[in-house]
Amino acid sequence: MESRAKTENIIHGISASQGIAYGPVFLYIQSDVEIPSYQVDPDKRIEEIARFDHALLETRQQITKIQSEVEKNLGPDEARIFDAHLLVIEDQALISETIREFETTSKNIETCFSKVSQRYIEAFSKIDDEYLRERAGDIRDVTQRVLQNLLGQAGQNLSRLADKRIVVANDITPSDAASIDRSQAIAIVTDSGSKTSHAVIVARSMKIPAVVGVRDLSKHIKVADWLLVDGYEGIVILNPTEQTLFRYGKIQLQKKSFEQRLMEATRLPSVTLDGSPVVLRANIEKIDEAGLVKEYQADGVGLFRTEFLYLSSPRIPTEDDQYQSYKSVVEALAPAPVVIRTLDLGGDKPMASNPELFPQESNPFLGFRAIRFCLEYRDIFKDQLRAILRASAHGRVQLMYPMISGAEEFERANAVLEECKDDLRKRGVAFDEAIEVGAMIEIPSAAMTADILAQKCDFFSIGTNDLIQYMLAIDRINDRIAHLYEPTHPAVLRVLKQIVDEAHKQGVKVSVCGEMASDPVYLPLLVGLGVDELSMTPPLLPAVKYFVRAIRLEEAKKLAEQALSMTSPKEIYALFDSFCHERVKVE
Ligand code: PEP
Ligand code: MG
Repeated sequence: MESRAKTENIIHGISASQGIAYGPVFLYIQSDVEIPSYQVDPDKRIEEIARFDHALLETRQQITKIQSEVEKNLGPDEARIFDAHLLVIEDQALISETIREFETTSKNIETCFSKVSQRYIEAFSKIDDEYLRERAGDIRDVTQRVLQNLLGQAGQNLSRLADKRIVVANDITPSDAASIDRSQAIAIVTDSGSKTSHAVIVARSMKIPAVVGVRDLSKHIKVADWLLVDGYEGIVILNPTEQTLFRYGKIQLQKKSFEQRLMEATRLPSVTLDGSPVVLRANIEKIDEAGLVKEYQADGVGLFRTEFLYLSSPRIPTEDDQYQSYKSVVEALAPAPVVIRTLDLGGDKPMASNPELFPQESNPFLGFRAIRFCLEYRDIFKDQLRAILRASAHGRVQLMYPMISGAEEFERANAVLEECKDDLRKRGVAFDEAIEVGAMIEIPSAAMTADILAQKCDFFSIGTNDLIQYMLAIDRINDRIAHLYEPTHPAVLRVLKQIVDEAHKQGVKVSVCGEMASDPVYLPLLVGLGVDELSMTPPLLPAVKYFVRAIRLEEAKKLAEQALSMTSPKEIYALFDSFCHERVKVE
């Protein structure tokens, strides 16, 4: 075989879909459409705009066609990816800004459209939310398609592979991803991309391994190369030796039986070996994720990030739009609780379609975001609160505010909530009069005044993603200082303990809904500190539940106590990491 004559080379990327595959490469290189730039004669202006309309229509038809093919081959969930594409093509702001650009510059419509969509792509790329950042990919995908149609160029595609291949690409657009030849693609490797890219979603639905972020592998690889893709560890091995292949054959068998064990835990109760229940809930962003909450048997939703409803829409959703969305999740999961978090827009998550609402800021993480935005734009806030209250009549809803800095702010938000309750009473609309209202604890000032806040709140949910960033002064999306973002910093441990202790003194339950909750390594720490509930992305639930069932509350408490007396974040991490590895053996 060709592979044996060449040298083995190990490339590290990011694990995106689990599994192991070995096979020859199908190299797929995507390049941006080259755009000519020229002035359009004044008497050709109407024709130019008609050309644009025609390309939009053509693109729309192509997307609808792909969508129905995907629905047939992959199912309705995957087909819904293209709703986001259709929204881009129908986005009035994008279309009218392009025409305005054309009217002011008289440049050909390709140049104007490309310039305007680039602005949108940049705005989305800066959003501190992996899923929403990926929407930049949707806009880029649709833009490329419109440009190809304007220029009369046909794109490449991955829909017909000659034999079993590992697809290696610099990038894979959602339409490429959805049209991938499912009978022949055995793994996906991309230079760029993140764990939530569409290529990854498709790889997971096909149950094939995917590794992303391998930088410029597609530039160095040749079609004759053979690859081994380890989707568990995020490793790609170019031209592996016989020895490596043998080792991986064994690993593959072990991992398969371990995964089976994890999935078996899904059906079992989440209790420690000494009988203490640990409530595990799901974090969701979209209404159709209610299905995943059930599939992974989460105990309801611990964090519904509602920003997505706003960011995926070309306009601010109305009270009714939101009511329908919340109601569908609440009804689907009743009687399990759904914690709906009010809008956490602004700062690093501006709404591209309403830039006037979000002034440019030099310190967006310390700026006009979340509850600060809502308390200023009362009408937007009230529409959302009424929608949540109305949904509470259909199941069990708990409401929580993000980025609360202290008790006064919490009370200000609650005063608005009371006005909304009055509005609904006057309208004779049903809602849960006893709806529970909690605060996210993610700003150090809220953490330090947890004793005061606990007197006003029904529950706490600790947003460790933000809390750690503010405690340690580490921008959570800055790669350069990412290594300094340490959840096991003694300051973090102390603040977590303080929040839990103060809440418990007042009988208030504490959940953790930041990423820390989904990593089994931190489970004994959080449970040992007394955290009552953990909320995480649904597919991560089996591993956490498995680990809950493998530990004792008493030993978790001892470990947490030991960690609180230690000084080095790395040593504290090592303590929990080795405990995790000792307890959970992949064999
Ligand atoms: C957090 O900050 O931990 C959190 C869950 O909120 P988000 O990640 O949406 O800011
Ligand atoms: Mg947060």
